[in-house]
Amino acid sequence: MRVLVTGVTGYIGSHAAVELLDVGHDVVGVDDFSASSPSVRAAIERAAGRPIELHELDLRNRAAVNCLFDKGNFDAVIHFAGRKFVGESMDRPVRYYSRNVGASINLAAAAQRHRVEKIVFSSSCTVYGNPAQLPVNEATPVAPVSPYGRTKVAVEDLFSDLCATDPNMSVLSLRYFNPIGAHPSGLLGEVPQGTPNNLLPYVMQVAAGQRSTLSVFGGDYDTADGTCIRDYVHVVDIAKAHVRALDYVDHVRGFDAMNLGTGRGSSVLEIITACRIATRRDIPYQIVDRRAGDAAVIFADPTRANIDLGWRAEANLTQMCFDHWRFERAHLAPEAQAS
Ligand code: UDP
Repeated sequence: MRVLVTGVTGYIGSHAAVELLDVGHDVVGVDDFSASSPSVRAAIERAAGRPIELHELDLRNRAAVNCLFDKGNFDAVIHFAGRKFVGESMDRPVRYYSRNVGASINLAAAAQRHRVEKIVFSSSCTVYGNPAQLPVNEATPVAPVSPYGRTKVAVEDLFSDLCATDPNMSVLSLRYFNPIGAHPSGLLGEVPQGTPNNLLPYVMQVAAGQRSTLSVFGGDYDTADGTCIRDYVHVVDIAKAHVRALDYVDHVRGFDAMNLGTGRGSSVLEIITACRIATRRDIPYQIVDRRAGDAAVIFADPTRANIDLGWRAEANLTQMCFDHWRFERAHLAPEAQAS
């Protein structure tokens, strides 16, 4: 297939591009480079051994999106582009609605007009908010607790309504749990802008000596060690699920959503231990107040993806932390690389 990949130079988009190229799809990538660098293109091409087409484009520009589709001749779209930080969305909700929902409306309209009927959408377990029951399956009520989460639900609703009225459309929304790790080549990984918001990038910068101490947000949760539990899943496993998802939307019509997780939860302290082993470095931490909006425990029931996509997360926690570190280390200044 000739696949339009939005947000192709981002963390998950870049890994997915490599997997798509590996199985023979052609990738036409777009990105506005607001949270990533055009240099990721070379890393994708080196990791896959094949070129991609890349356009700088802001999906909020409707005329530009239409022009892209006029010339694109796409068979399918995988839509990664968007902002992804809960905290930032609390401070700047309009930005989130514009970049996540506004952009998706332009994309959906252009896809429908140009009869590009297969779409895979990057969603998140954040749509479930603070779930009452665990593990979380797709029947768990959607109840987001942040503007970011609400933008993901809004886009899912948009695609679901589109499919309900256009029987040829097929959209699969993939609800990622906590993607971590990096490509085993060491060429691709997560490149946070400024102070990392997410746990793994922060832990890695502490291991690298770029930051002195990790703040663990809350040590008094009702969990075995008092810290929050999440379902961490390797970004390459997530990327591979998109290859399966393309097959799925090629055969099944309508809207659907599936969880992508391992089905196993790990606490923040377990992550610190795994990262100490993977990096062979000390990771000083202190327990501080809880972070507003954090659920105590969330992990996936990935049965639907296991059965209907034939997909299963394979990497264990040590592998994920090791791969994350390999990339981080490769991008450190030489003096910080010495262990
Ligand atoms: N966390 C932490 N310190 C940090 C960043 C995150 O203790 O500097 C915790 C956070 O409270 C949550 C877990 O690590 O329990 C995962 O947070 P992250 O932001 O990576 O993902 P989220 O689950 O919030 O999407």
